[in-house]
Amino acid sequence: MRGVLLDLDGVVYVGDQPVPGAPETIHWLAREGIPHAFLTNTTSRPRQAVIAKLAGLGVAAGAEQILTPAVSAVAWMRRHSITGPAVFVPEATAEEFAELAPLAGDAERGAGAVVIGDLGDGWTFATLNRALRLLMSDPAIPLVALGMTRYWRAEDGLRLDAGAFVRALEYAASRAAVVVGKPDPTFYGAAVDALDLRADQVVMIGDDIHTDIEGAQRAGLAGVLVRTGKFSPSDIGCGVVPDAVLDSLADLPRRWTDL
Ligand SMILES: [Mg+2]
Repeated sequence: MRGVLLDLDGVVYVGDQPVPGAPETIHWLAREGIPHAFLTNTTSRPRQAVIAKLAGLGVAAGAEQILTPAVSAVAWMRRHSITGPAVFVPEATAEEFAELAPLAGDAERGAGAVVIGDLGDGWTFATLNRALRLLMSDPAIPLVALGMTRYWRAEDGLRLDAGAFVRALEYAASRAAVVVGKPDPTFYGAAVDALDLRADQVVMIGDDIHTDIEGAQRAGLAGVLVRTGKFSPSDIGCGVVPDAVLDSLADLPRRWTDL
């Protein structure tokens, strides 16, 4: 293996706490000159906030190393000449969509696309229902999913992620979403390109057996599962077989030559 893609939530940190030894492993990657980037489905915060959070853990990362679905979604909509998307993400993340002039306020029609991210506590019945009404107002409006992660582990326990809400809307509106985050193979392909390597030279390290491990393997990468974050013993034997399992990211330097 030549390069590394790292999931963030549950791998590098859980809530505001670093996973013990994870920052040291990232320092090791930098020292060894191993190309690496962070591949996250996080849409609860913009890239600049992710960079600031990593800096707070003593990890220096440039914007080009933080690969998020919001950035991919903007690129996808630009390619399809879509403007005025209705964006269901927290206010801070909505800034990432500014160049597409997002639909303002509570409009229930006229969106160029309906974009679903991790709105977290911002979800209410009315909010989710507005997404449905926008979709039903015009069968041509694409439903864009910022990743299909089912849930993640916050400091207080598991929390529903964007994928669960996307599935609800797909069912209600009888429409399949365009997925622009993990586990979409295009997202993995763009990440591999960003490292300037081939897929079979890159290992994805994550705590989600589906979006991280299965998604990476389907895109031709190796998938390494960590026993931190949302990891559950039932992930082993669920039908997806990781290329390796590490107790945590702290073990990577010791196991690197085996990968
Ligand atoms: Mg994770």
